[in-house]
Amino acid sequence: YGEGSQKIDYVFKIVLIGDSAVGKSQILSRFARNEFSLDSKATIGVEFQTRTLVIQHKSVKAQIWDTAGQERYRAVTSAYYRGAVGAMLVYDITKRQTFDHIPRWLEELRSHADKNIVIILIGNKTDLEDQRAVPTEDAKEFAQQEGLFFLETSALEATNVEDAFMTVLTEIFNIVN
Ligand code: GDP
Ligand code: MG
Repeated sequence: YGEGSQKIDYVFKIVLIGDSAVGKSQILSRFARNEFSLDSKATIGVEFQTRTLVIQHKSVKAQIWDTAGQERYRAVTSAYYRGAVGAMLVYDITKRQTFDHIPRWLEELRSHADKNIVIILIGNKTDLEDQRAVPTEDAKEFAQQEGLFFLETSALEATNVEDAFMTVLTEIFNIVN
């Protein structure tokens, strides 16, 4: 039972990964609390945030894990991935390097997480279109090759953030049902 003793049918653990400063914490903040901050400090303390929503008349608690900055040293531990049924692999569309590092993150994810984990590739910061360094087509093609879902988002403008989480949660829901 969750908030207000609402019955919870499912709890799905989702992990956020990707290079530092791509917007992982702001994507989570947008989804969990509908908040955004332009000067977000390195995430402190909180391991995960939750939001409960309804999918096909069942209540699903999304428990979304955020790194506390360990990604800077590529020191995300196996405990972080343990039990995860979904993952959001995030890069910044204005920083080519963050996209070039995606295969490494994917490899790390696949070596630590369950093999059936549902993964979505996310190109964040679409509000900075004039600084774009990663063509949508490149990412789409990569996602297709690797069997990942793909969406571009803006945590700042709240574009596609809800869609990205719903894509992952609905897919997981369909797998367990
Ligand atoms: P993390 O290290 O991946 O958790 O990245 P943060 O969420 O801390 O964000 C890093 C910086 O990018 C912060 O200054 C955020 O305000 C900014 N940021 C995050 N998402 C967006 C976005 O969608 N658009 C823009 N313009 N800035 C963003
Ligand atoms: Mg962060």
